[in-house]
Amino acid sequence: MVMLQRCVFKRIQQLYSGNQASTKSLLSGFSTALLQGHRPAACRNISSLPDVKEKTLVVVKPDGVQRSLVGQIIQRFEQRGFKLVGLKMLQVSEDLLSQHYCQLRTKPFYPTLVHYMTSGPVVVMVWEGYKVVETSRMMVGHTNPAEAQAGTVRGDFSIHVSRNVVHASDSPEGAQREIQLWFEGKELLNWDSCYQTSTCEV
Ligand code: UDP
Ligand code: MG
Repeated sequence: MVMLQRCVFKRIQQLYSGNQASTKSLLSGFSTALLQGHRPAACRNISSLPDVKEKTLVVVKPDGVQRSLVGQIIQRFEQRGFKLVGLKMLQVSEDLLSQHYCQLRTKPFYPTLVHYMTSGPVVVMVWEGYKVVETSRMMVGHTNPAEAQAGTVRGDFSIHVSRNVVHASDSPEGAQREIQLWFEGKELLNWDSCYQTSTCEV
């Protein structure tokens, strides 16, 4: 992004190279730090705060992928103000799924859940931000879409518990376990979003 900004500024400078005064007035609206290629002070070191760095795992399940809902689901998390730090598409193995849903293995619906979750590709994401686990659960809505409120992902996009479109971790500890299961450390990106100071006092 900074590279892009520098290119734009350079181009403006080239265009107005014959007129120093115009160039100066044109660029006066941009911060010196940006012109010099530095990040604004407000963007530095903010991700070192633990509550701002809370992470959760969100999975668009096979029905969500089949129904082309991936973009709309990502948009909701972006729009809310969370930061995407990991993203990939994969066909989940039964082995990974049995670890992911280890507490549900004895449930009567477990075989149909495995069949559903392995029926096609899923899109797995890690989202980061203040109280992201709790907020994501609210955004995703009740497990049973018939009871999910309108405005939640499940309440807006699904009707039956057997096809409820999305998964979100239910506790910070659960999120940590699930993230380690689905992602290698190097697949998660530690980056500073300049929107962060607009979404949270840090
Ligand atoms: N599930 C199901 N039937 C049920 C309960 C759950 O098929 O009666 C599936 C559903 O896909 C759900 C998943 O199992 O999302 C995991 O269940 P959990 O209770 O953990 O709900 P969640 O955390 O996804 O809301
Ligand atoms: Mg659950």
